[in-house]
Amino acid sequence: MDQPLITQERHVEIREEVRKLCARFPGEYWRKLDEVRGYPTEFVRALTEAGYLSALIPEEYGGSGLGLSAAGAILETVHAEGCNGAACHAQMYIMGTILRHGSEQQKQAYLPKIASGELRLQAFGVTEPTSGTDTTSLRTFARREGDRYVVNGQKIWTSRAEHSDLMLLLARTTARNEVRRKTDGLSTFIVDMRETLGRGLTIRPIRTMMNHNSCEVFFDNMQVPAANLVGEEGRGFRYILDGMNAERLLIASECIGDAKWFTAKSVAYVKDRHVFGRPIGQNQGVQFPIARAYAQMRAAELLVRAGCEKFEAGQPCGEEANMAKMLAADASWAAAEACLQSHGGFGFAEEYDVERKYRETRLYQVAPISTNLVLSYIAEHVLGMPRSY
Ligand SMILES: Cc1cc2nc3c(=O)[nH]c(=O)nc-3n(C[C@H](O)[C@H](O)[C@H](O)COP(=O)(O)OP(=O)(O)OC[C@H]3O[C@@H](n4cnc5c(N)ncnc54)[C@H](O)[C@@H]3O)c2cc1C
Repeated sequence: MDQPLITQERHVEIREEVRKLCARFPGEYWRKLDEVRGYPTEFVRALTEAGYLSALIPEEYGGSGLGLSAAGAILETVHAEGCNGAACHAQMYIMGTILRHGSEQQKQAYLPKIASGELRLQAFGVTEPTSGTDTTSLRTFARREGDRYVVNGQKIWTSRAEHSDLMLLLARTTARNEVRRKTDGLSTFIVDMRETLGRGLTIRPIRTMMNHNSCEVFFDNMQVPAANLVGEEGRGFRYILDGMNAERLLIASECIGDAKWFTAKSVAYVKDRHVFGRPIGQNQGVQFPIARAYAQMRAAELLVRAGCEKFEAGQPCGEEANMAKMLAADASWAAAEACLQSHGGFGFAEEYDVERKYRETRLYQVAPISTNLVLSYIAEHVLGMPRSY
């Protein structure tokens, strides 16, 4: 393809600027980090300094006050350029819980510092080893004692915990058998990990198939000031759910970016690689998987756009956000498969970056929500079929 695979007309300038920033972080940079499972500190600093990670923070709190589609354009471009937003994407949406449900004092205390980069809010502690997707069964318990909460329990897959100052934590504050609905009795806290690390908080990294800086996190009588409770005690599950549509649409944007990267890479390679005296891209068997994945990506992209428009208009967008996440993840996976296959043996060589991106994009079939759970959402909440779990 002679034209770059940019199909959305919106936020053209942002895309152009992000593209220039990403050019400073080529494949070699990511490859070296991948080898040692290192954190892309310089890349995250560059995004922070350029104001991209505070895109969704309103101007009155020091951010750029942009809409979700602009944030999506930033992350999509990061991925389309071969970089990886997973090192910092959560900061864009986790702060939404503080913005929507925090007190004015909390917003003043945290948001401007997050916007400037003085404070990092990269860690999101929801998933636990025993409860998995069944979030309301989580066991981490925060017991009120005077002006503080004492937290005991464990989280898993808490990404970026070692590279964050703050963690947004979901914990039980009332036992499950003492609440009317299982979604009650959960609360959300801002944990200052600079104060608690080594004092009740232990972080243990987990080595995974891709470089994602995920961790296990243990709480042993960790103390959190009561002032760090977000909103009302017992309503935390709703606050977390509230932010999930934004999360899904942003992750979907990353998948669209990945699909564009894989497709551009595939097209360039198959036009250039000659076998049997002609470009391999002249064979329909090579062309079709690439073309199919491109069509899937374009369809998913429309849904991402529709979801962002509804989100920005303050309308319910659960249907679009869930479907966009699933279809964009499917499109990026199809594009990854086509790319690896069309590269033949070279697809497995690290220097082509294909195998790295292939490992990275596979995650989005499982996290932050797995495909089955998206399908269950559509079946139950969109189509009205009985709840299956
Ligand atoms: C690299 C990585 C980073 C992550 N980062 C974070 C993070 O920062 N913070 C955080 O809180 N979490 C994080 N997660 C956790 C992630 O959100 C979960 O892994 C994901 O939601 C799936 O939960 P689980 O792993 O417990 O799988 P399980 O809930 O055990 O599910 C396993 C499989 O069974 C299927 N399944 C389960 N129940 C049903 C059902 N009722 N019907 C049909 N299928 C079902 C699922 O679809 C899945 O495929 C991360 C995970 C990974 C791998």
